[in-house]
Amino acid sequence: MIPGVRLVVLGKQGAGKGTQCVRLSHHYVVPHVSTGDMLRSEVKSRTDLGKRARELMDQGDLIPDDMVMEMVGSRLSERDTTGRGFVLDGCPRTTHQAEKLDKLVQPSGLDLVIDLQVSTTLVMKRLASRRVCVDCGANYSTAAPPLVNWTCDVCGGEVVQRQDDTEEAIERRLNLYEAETAPLLDWYKQRELLVEVNGTGSPDAVTRRVVGAIDALRRKGRGDGRGAVPA
Ligand SMILES: [Zn+2]
Repeated sequence: MIPGVRLVVLGKQGAGKGTQCVRLSHHYVVPHVSTGDMLRSEVKSRTDLGKRARELMDQGDLIPDDMVMEMVGSRLSERDTTGRGFVLDGCPRTTHQAEKLDKLVQPSGLDLVIDLQVSTTLVMKRLASRRVCVDCGANYSTAAPPLVNWTCDVCGGEVVQRQDDTEEAIERRLNLYEAETAPLLDWYKQRELLVEVNGTGSPDAVTRRVVGAIDALRRKGRGDGRGAVPA
C-alpha cells in the first residue's frame, strides 16, 4: 500500500496547482483539502461561516485569516486527514497562516511544501485562455473546453471567462501574489520543508516531478523523523 502524505502545494494562479492537487490526492490516496472548494460549499449550503464569507466577498473584502484557519483546522481534524494525510491547496497564504497551520498539524508536522514554478509569460497565456465553471469552480481552457457546449463536465454549471481575467488584472494579481508569498516561501525554506518543482509541461510530466521529489525525500529519510509517514 502506498503511504499517505502531508503536503502543502503553493503556486501562483495559472501554475496548474488545482490540477496537480487533484492528481496528487489520487496518487497518495489522501483528501484534496482546497480552501476555495470549502468556501464555495459553505456559501452554497448557507452555513454561518458561509454567510459571513458571502458578505465579505460581496463587499470585495478578503476572507480573514482566522476564518480560513478555523475552516482548515476543522477539516484537518477529521479522521481521514489525521489518518493518511492531505494535499492542502489555497492555504497558507501568509506566514501568519503558516504559523497557525504548523500548530494545527502537530505532532506529525508537514512532510513537504511544494512550490510549483511557472514563468509569468506562460501563466499570462494560460489565464487568458482560462474558462471557469460558475458553480463548482472547475477549470477549463479554450484549448480544452468541456465536452458539451461550455457546460461543466463535473456539475453541469455554466463555463465562462472570468470578468477579472483581463491581462491587466492578471498581471496585478500575479505581482500581488509574488509580493505576498515571498516571505512565506522563505519561512518554509528556513524550516527545510520547501521544494521547488518546475511546473512547465504536460500535467503528467509535472505530477511525475512532484511525486519524484516526495519519494526522493522519503528514500533519504529525515534525521528528525519529520518526514516519516505511517503507512
Ligand atoms: Zn461545475
